[in-house]
Amino acid sequence: MNPGTPFDSSRTHAFGATSSFAGVPAATMDDLQGARAVIVGAPFDWGTSYRPGARFGPRAIRETDYFSPDGYRPHLPTGLNALEGVVDIGDVEVKPGDIEGDLDRIAAAVEAIAGAGSIPIVLGGDHTITFANATGVARVFGYGKIALVHFDAHADTGEMTGYGSLYGHGTPMRRLIESGAVPGNRFVQIGLRGYWPGPETIAWMREQGMRSYMMTEIEERGLGAVVDEAVAYAADGADAVFISIDMDVVDPGMAPGTGTPEPGGLTSRQILDTVRRISRELNVVGADVVELSPPYDGPGAVTAILANRIVLEILNGLAERAAGAVS
Ligand code: MN
Ligand code: MN
Repeated sequence: MNPGTPFDSSRTHAFGATSSFAGVPAATMDDLQGARAVIVGAPFDWGTSYRPGARFGPRAIRETDYFSPDGYRPHLPTGLNALEGVVDIGDVEVKPGDIEGDLDRIAAAVEAIAGAGSIPIVLGGDHTITFANATGVARVFGYGKIALVHFDAHADTGEMTGYGSLYGHGTPMRRLIESGAVPGNRFVQIGLRGYWPGPETIAWMREQGMRSYMMTEIEERGLGAVVDEAVAYAADGADAVFISIDMDVVDPGMAPGTGTPEPGGLTSRQILDTVRRISRELNVVGADVVELSPPYDGPGAVTAILANRIVLEILNGLAERAAGAVS
């Protein structure tokens, strides 16, 4: 099936982009302006199992900041302007309910950006889209050639959704492993906790060679030690890395605006420092920030602001790497 044009230049949905991320230049797929990184929205939430609303995520991440429009926003610790060389091409055209068609269109968009030599940063959207995002990058860098660093309260390795579908926000990592886009032994998961999945799925994950760090282990050993190991693991044997941040990896006290909150997560400070470090130390070729559900956000849009800053810290890590500040 022809997925159609992946880009929604005519704004066919009411919940889509109305502005660019942090005021960066708008671009089109035909002219990415030689950008280092390209922001693209995927306002898709028909893969959620509980609280929906992530279709409003890309717009909230773009709009939730208080920058002056002069375009110069140096990062305080580094002095770098993370937004230099960044453009926004708007949203992928999605069609509510058409899960497989949307995944095709999102993968095509990500593939086109990565194929043009830019780093796609996808604003979600529920976590279903990571199957498409990492697939798009793998089509460019090679199946089996990329590692995936996955921040989440949940493993997202379900064999099927709870409702018997292959595609949903609890299954993308299983689909990536099965397709060969990202082998199980190239997966690093950080922040798992709570009451899902069950022992059968955990056993399957171990068989695949997935490295999963639960919050209990992070508490025992310290986040720094765990990230040291995660960075070494992801760098070993993979040419390139995709990072996926599910907002529910952060404690719901600091990030309530998400679909399936799970108490006991990372702090805002921890996720910001960690995504910047990974974007600086590893060859990151794509990223997504998913599961922001603005209708469930707390007072002051705390979760949307955090998601906006996570994107900025990724961009800053990329800028540090480009500037040669690789530690
Ligand atoms: Mn997830
Ligand atoms: Mn999750």
